Amino acid sequence: MTKKKPKQGFCSHNQVVYGMTTVSERGQVVVPANIRRDLDIKTGDRFMVLKRGDNAGITLLKIDKMDELMFKIQQDEEFFKKVSGGENMPTCQDCKHYNPVDEETGNCFGVEVKADMDADDCPAKAFEPK
Ligand code: SF4
Repeated sequence: MTKKKPKQGFCSHNQVVYGMTTVSERGQVVVPANIRRDLDIKTGDRFMVLKRGDNAGITLLKIDKMDELMFKIQQDEEFFKKVSGGENMPTCQDCKHYNPVDEETGNCFGVEVKADMDADDCPAKAFEPK
């Protein structure tokens, strides 16, 4: 009886390069079959086309993955604060009514407040820049 040779495979989990493709006269490119298989890309799938920041090429993002990303962004209040300049929002320590008690807290009209509290959250709505 002959012993069966164990099957061997190729793990593409960390694969980055999938070959080369050429732009046709009509601007079309062929997506190599092996990356279509690995990413489950099918005929009719739609992609968002992004230019890389370093102008080295493009990135194609599956539209259904973009929907997932957009949903996560939609649910993330911190994200909206960051993109709307929330990171630079004035805080109590930027307010003329703030008198420091220590490094983290200060006194405002006799009430202890956090130095890094957003001026938007001011209970008295009395923020005034120093
Ligand atoms: S007035 Fe409002 S923003 Fe200003 S220090 Fe007091 S609590 Fe903070």
